[in-house]
Amino acid sequence: EEKREDKKTAVHKIDNCQPAVFIPVDRLPEIQEARLKLPVLAEEQVIMEAVKENDCVVLCGETGSGKTTQVPQFLYEAGYASAGGLIGVTEPRRVAAVSMSHRVANEMNLSTGVVSYQIRFEGNVTKDTKIKFMTDGVLLKEVQKDFLLQKYSVIIIDEAHERSVYTDILIGLLSRIVALRNKKGLPMKLLIMSATLRVEDFTENKRLFRIPPPVIKVEARQFPVTVHFNKRTPMEDYVAEAFRKTCKIHRMLPPGGILVFLTGQAEVQSVCRRLRKAFPYRPKNTQNTEMEDAPEELRKFKRQKQKKSVSLPRIDLNNYSALPVDEGDEDRQAGVDDEDDEGSDLDLGDQPEDSEEKADPSIPLYVLPLYSLLAPEQQAKVFRPPPPGARLCVVATNVAETSLTIPGIKYVVDCGRVKKRFYDRVTGVSSFKVTWTSQASANQRAGRAGRTEAGHCYRLYSSAVFSDFSEFSEAEITRRPVDDLVLQMKDLNIEKVWGSGALMSAEQLLISLGALEEPPRQGRMVDMERARLSCPITPLGRAMAAFPVSPRYAKMLALGRQQGCMPYTITIVAAMTVREIFEELDRPASSEEESSKLAGRKARFSQMRRLWAGQGQSLLLGDLMVLLGAVGACEFASCTPKFCEENGLRYKAMLEIRRLRGQLTNAVNAVCSDAGVCVDNKMAPPTESQVVCLRQIVLAGLGDHLARRVQTEELLDPKWRNGYKTPLLDEPVFIHPSSALHKELPEFVVYQEIMETTKMYMRGVCAVQADWIPKLLPQYCHFSGPEQSPAPWYCTVSGKVKCRQQSTFFRVGWKLPAIEM
Ligand code: ADP
Ligand code: MG
Repeated sequence: EEKREDKKTAVHKIDNCQPAVFIPVDRLPEIQEARLKLPVLAEEQVIMEAVKENDCVVLCGETGSGKTTQVPQFLYEAGYASAGGLIGVTEPRRVAAVSMSHRVANEMNLSTGVVSYQIRFEGNVTKDTKIKFMTDGVLLKEVQKDFLLQKYSVIIIDEAHERSVYTDILIGLLSRIVALRNKKGLPMKLLIMSATLRVEDFTENKRLFRIPPPVIKVEARQFPVTVHFNKRTPMEDYVAEAFRKTCKIHRMLPPGGILVFLTGQAEVQSVCRRLRKAFPYRPKNTQNTEMEDAPEELRKFKRQKQKKSVSLPRIDLNNYSALPVDEGDEDRQAGVDDEDDEGSDLDLGDQPEDSEEKADPSIPLYVLPLYSLLAPEQQAKVFRPPPPGARLCVVATNVAETSLTIPGIKYVVDCGRVKKRFYDRVTGVSSFKVTWTSQASANQRAGRAGRTEAGHCYRLYSSAVFSDFSEFSEAEITRRPVDDLVLQMKDLNIEKVWGSGALMSAEQLLISLGALEEPPRQGRMVDMERARLSCPITPLGRAMAAFPVSPRYAKMLALGRQQGCMPYTITIVAAMTVREIFEELDRPASSEEESSKLAGRKARFSQMRRLWAGQGQSLLLGDLMVLLGAVGACEFASCTPKFCEENGLRYKAMLEIRRLRGQLTNAVNAVCSDAGVCVDNKMAPPTESQVVCLRQIVLAGLGDHLARRVQTEELLDPKWRNGYKTPLLDEPVFIHPSSALHKELPEFVVYQEIMETTKMYMRGVCAVQADWIPKLLPQYCHFSGPEQSPAPWYCTVSGKVKCRQQSTFFRVGWKLPAIEM
């Protein structure tokens, strides 16, 4: 008790040494008590003094030590937000920005209008906001608007160890901004917070900091965690293995929460289902725990569904079509799992020796999923104590590794894998792959078990496999396209941010999209090299940089106003930007009954998509017409959860699209003085000629993603049947069976991206006409003399389209928006 009192006085003492006033915070007693247990509180004085004396401070401490929730409060109390300046906190993950802003508002007993968040699609910032949590991408956009970030008095870059691209860039930019602000007499502070991993990457980097910033280490009270490796060679089916291990822990080991790490949403849901079935848990009053804090609209819908006699909203078939509902597959149940695990001979051979207490097998298991697409209200449940007498079991993806600390975890089950998006810079092929994680990550995961008492971590792989893991996960910049970043840096007139070779292809793309000026093709090698390094941004590039989407989409928006196509262009771009708008149906079914239900839904949804794709010109817009049709139909039905559920659309994605449409419409109106697009959720379908125009707009934006079907007479190898040739790949790519153009097989198509699953499949396919190519994409053409080759012809060797040069084609640009600078 006495020690705690000490700390309280210490808190007041440093407040006195701050130049600004001390801003009192009225916390609830139980919150105050919980705070005092956090290791970071013991360092408040040291941290605040370091911040006062230095422009930039690095703070590292174990996950869960209280950095994210407490440091913004220290700064607030010390008066950093009292003179009108904001305290900004950036997070690499959206989940963390939202969840942490709520937590801090709650701890400080302040409204979310004061402690707010802003992520790309949403936010609750008001004019009274003092502490603002945001994703790092949001802050980068703000740097573009106001390079000095004058709104802010402090910026905290959180989770710097994650090495997200934006984090890396922001640290680079902010180190300069802080210096500039000081020069102007408007001082600003920068705090970099990180788990205890590789801080030297920042501090020792001479390009970032001439004098390395001070590093404060928070010693966390970490209890010992015993690590148990699987003795056997790693099992292929780690999901089943994770389920079994969790069952064993629950049956045999003393009380304490269990945290299971898997790689993706589908796996998490499947394990949750199986655990709930194996250990049924029935809360007394509510029959459906999931409903407790669902948004009102969703709850209403579920109630209605339970009543079972709902009628469909009438949909104007002249506008967007919706199939009538057949009652059969309406009622989707959680899958039932018939697998019998009782007979499993797997022993928990490595069970802790110290388990003297005998576990009670009749204790209920309170199972909660946690992944980033989960609704925030559902996510928040993991922080609340489990119902009395029940054991908490959280089945999570990587979000539980460092961003969110779940209280009361004593056992960790680690599958050792992580799902990552990989991107091949040369070919532009993206794929999600489940790979082994790194040693640093595996140790982070294990650490989650030792927060409140000694714990245990069960690794579903052998120690030999562990020693083969790489030491750290590589920075994100090696795994994603960087063209959007290069464009944004160019817009800030920063020519060379990293100077690494990895950026060449991004720059090349921007040149070909017309966003950067083309470097001279002749001259001395050195001069050309120098010119290439500083290709300045073009007016089109500036317009593109104003849109919060990647350059290909930004170009579509810049061209979208031809023939009144802007509302459609905005909708298509919004839909392409949002992660997966259709409900995922490829999840493994756990019973025959479920699998036939899934098949039924699949058939219905594919019928729906055909309807949305339409006929004639519409159909040639392909998968993008399906997106447009889906959004259009959904908005005609007022975007209800019911409509989404019945038509295989993700409700959350549809809401995101609606928000993004509004945001992009505003952006377009702000950038183009003469655009005058209005925000109207309901829009009439495009006319035939507008669809043709839309296909051209799409081609202009996705021009580097051009593919040509291999003609029968060119077939050398049967594997090329129905295959398409792209400039950079040696292998054929295909139109996915779920695509609207699967049967049409147009000669030329552009695609949104290539995903590699069983084959290389193009996603988001749209048919284009050969004779548009020289007009819209002269960069990709090889022009012959006027007398030869009249029809455009695609050369697989050069990856270029050969065609006759026609003066009407070449350099006849479309009308660009009048851009206000
Ligand atoms: P760090 O940033 O150092 O990893 P945090 O500030 O995120 O640590 O977490 C500090 C503590 O606050 C943890 O014990 C965590 O469980 C708790 N916490 C975070 N969010 C919530 C919440 N929404 N409800 C209850 N406790 C929370
Ligand atoms: Mg944190």
